[in-house]
Amino acid sequence: MEYTEIMVRYGELSTKGKNRKDFIKQLGKNVRHSLHDFPGLEIRAQYDRLHVALNGTPAQPVMDRLKGVFGIENFSPMIKLEKDFEQVKDTALEMVKAQYKPGMTFKINTKRQDHNFEFDTNQINDKLGGHILRNVPGIEVQMRQPDIMIKVEVRLNGIFLTSETIKGAGGLPVGTGGHAVMMLSGGIDSPVASYLGMKRGVKLDMVHFFSPPYTSEQALAKAKELTSKIAGYAGSIQFVQVPFTKAQEEIKEKVPEGYLMTIQRRMMLRITAAIAQLRGAKGVFTGESLGQVASQTLESMLAINDVTNMPVLRPLVSMDKTEIIKIAEQIDTYDLSILPFEDCCTIFTPPAPKTRPDLEKTRNFEKLVDVDALMKEAIDGIQVCNIRPGENFMNQQEDVFAELL
Ligand code: ATP
Ligand code: MG
Repeated sequence: MEYTEIMVRYGELSTKGKNRKDFIKQLGKNVRHSLHDFPGLEIRAQYDRLHVALNGTPAQPVMDRLKGVFGIENFSPMIKLEKDFEQVKDTALEMVKAQYKPGMTFKINTKRQDHNFEFDTNQINDKLGGHILRNVPGIEVQMRQPDIMIKVEVRLNGIFLTSETIKGAGGLPVGTGGHAVMMLSGGIDSPVASYLGMKRGVKLDMVHFFSPPYTSEQALAKAKELTSKIAGYAGSIQFVQVPFTKAQEEIKEKVPEGYLMTIQRRMMLRITAAIAQLRGAKGVFTGESLGQVASQTLESMLAINDVTNMPVLRPLVSMDKTEIIKIAEQIDTYDLSILPFEDCCTIFTPPAPKTRPDLEKTRNFEKLVDVDALMKEAIDGIQVCNIRPGENFMNQQEDVFAELL
């Protein structure tokens, strides 16, 4: 079928007033951004729906992109016709034939906005239904749950036919939920948490800590590559890399082993919150979930969270690893995440970190290091880049394999 436009329906229709206006405006912007390399399209975001006129562009690649835009409930490829009923009959028949298999049933569902059109909805249903019954041997009409549903809309500017509704990504348009930073490691969890944060409309900047020479160039490249995997949901993503070697070395030298991990995490969160503030962001997201590892007990979270008043959001907090992995596979980050490059945290984590650190002791041990100087040094050394969907950072295959061996 040669479709002429795609009609997009919004999610979470309960949003009203100003919020709703912002929602529609942002969604229009995000759709335009995600389809920017299809020059023939015309995109109009209206109060109740968004229309993408194809102007000869094939529908499928456009629909594949739309599937990744948050805020879309579903969409339908449509054919727009002039108000010529013979053409409508032919096209409806063609649509049915394209899907028909023996034993299937169908239904015509007409809506009429143009009350001057020569037929009313019942007449249109009857005429089109009759035409299909006469031309598709064996097919029957079924009112409830037909296999094939042809929707006909008679509008002022033409007649629109569609027979498919495709599920969208749901959620809220990225940008309507404010701006936060994401603590992104190279692991399985933080990319999934990023995806879920963006799904609620939050624009996220990635903050990644790395510790050369203890962590390799490839570990940094992996975090960037993970960012490019999920950048499609946001258009593009700012990536902030933070040098953490000096802080880790000093903490390791001065703090008792049981508290190394807690104090290291406090330092990471403190630096991240400062970066958030510098960028005007209002919260910090992490990929933590309760009970997974030593740093992810409530006592640990209390001792680590102590360094900031900013909201720390943990979209995975109550998810099982298997559920998290399922999403990682869906968003295509899993295979990358499991590549075995050392993370700065694993390298400096002692064999037996305290799972229930004491808050007062934590605060006291931390006084052994020069927090302000280490923070300043890390923040002075940050580098920022903008990452677009599909960009490659790990294409030096030989290096990758050399490290794996
Ligand atoms: P992940 O799979 O996201 O690495 P994890 O289960 O391995 O999580 P940790 O490695 O303890 O758990 O990390 C917990 C969270 O701390 C991560 O989800 C991430 O938000 C943050 N984090 C860990 N390492 C880094 C890093 N190098 N840079 C930025 N954030 C990090
Ligand atoms: Mg990890």
